[in-house]
Amino acid sequence: MDLSRKIEILAESAKYDVSCSSSGVADNQRTGSVGSTAKAGICHSFTSDGRCVSLLKLLFTNACIFDCHYCINRKSNAIPRATFTPQEVADLTMDFYMRNYIEGLFLSSAIIKNVDYTSELLIKTLKILRHEKGFKGYIHVKAIPGADERLIEELGFLADRMSVNVELPSRESLKLLAPDKDPFALYKPMKQITHKKKELSLVPALKRASSFVPAGQSTQMIIGASPESDHSIVKIAENLYQKYDLKRVYYSAYIPVNQDSLLPAVTTDPPLLREHRLYQADWLLRFYRFSADEILSPEKPNFNLYLDPKANWAVQNYEQFPIDVQTASYERLLRIPGIGPKSAQNILKARKYYKLHLSDLKKLGVVVKRAQYFISCNGAVQAGLIQEPEWIITSLISSKQYDTLKKVNTQSRHEQLSLFDVERFEATKHKEMRYVN
Ligand code: SF4
Repeated sequence: MDLSRKIEILAESAKYDVSCSSSGVADNQRTGSVGSTAKAGICHSFTSDGRCVSLLKLLFTNACIFDCHYCINRKSNAIPRATFTPQEVADLTMDFYMRNYIEGLFLSSAIIKNVDYTSELLIKTLKILRHEKGFKGYIHVKAIPGADERLIEELGFLADRMSVNVELPSRESLKLLAPDKDPFALYKPMKQITHKKKELSLVPALKRASSFVPAGQSTQMIIGASPESDHSIVKIAENLYQKYDLKRVYYSAYIPVNQDSLLPAVTTDPPLLREHRLYQADWLLRFYRFSADEILSPEKPNFNLYLDPKANWAVQNYEQFPIDVQTASYERLLRIPGIGPKSAQNILKARKYYKLHLSDLKKLGVVVKRAQYFISCNGAVQAGLIQEPEWIITSLISSKQYDTLKKVNTQSRHEQLSLFDVERFEATKHKEMRYVN
């Protein structure tokens, strides 16, 4: 099989991994024009300092010996199969790098022969790149759960970032949908990477510390292939951040690719809005000092599809508002919809020098049209504003947004409204409700 056919097959198989986002779209321009692209995969990832880097995204092989129900590459699927050699991956990476197309490599793999053998192939690839070709660019590689600890460690000294995919949010779902995987082996490499990093960091003399998975580890969860609630998913993410110091948890709306009685029908739309809400909640965990149990609870286990999780929390806890921007702590400011870490810092700095008015807040980066319902400035609230949860909800949702969401909701299996009276909104949505005349 020639190399371009292998790339085509394996880039296609890699696109369901969202640990970095693929930008591979085919674009066949007419002869004589420029800009034609093949859909084989360059993707983007973000470094810890916020830089966006382009990565060559490859699956080493899709010839998997496992049969995970949700996966396009499962052994029972009749799809074209291909496997690179370590030399081919290294050569490809260098070719792309030398032409300035990419800054690094994102390398994942299905399981060929067994987990140790697969890990050895990945190690061999990275060794050629690092030691023979002197490649110093960014490498993100998958750790294969169940592989020997020695192999995980070796891989960790060659890569910048490693990811161990949780895949499904509970052991029960894993047993059912990924019968070849050992749910107990899944978290072992994460634990090992965390411990190794810590151990090396405790000995300053060990300069190697900085070269062991320096960009940390991440994971991915598939959303909507199994029945777990949003609350359970956010709880797992919180636990992973706290226990294993993960850099990112990625959420992937399940795209039905296989006809399977245990899974949503192939005609089901991927739960993209749910995925979006999970990323918003994830942001609240990482940067807004929220806990999972504040965002959702066993009593209200699923997201409000009409409101983002922060606004939803604010209207559910309306007795805690208004918060005065002149006196509130940083933590309290972060609770206000429309105020983020940067604008909260700006408020703290500005109020040392003058008394804040509503008109000052926009300049400080506050999204005033959201924040206005939840704040006071030196004890004063916006004149004429109705500060009642139901009015606020209808004001925060535009009619256009409402219509789109309603459409998504009627198609979705996840009807997740709380504190929102749809009929009442229908009756009033065209009226101007923000202010009392
Ligand atoms: S191990 Fe499971 S999820 Fe991974 S490639 Fe094989 S079948 Fe797919």
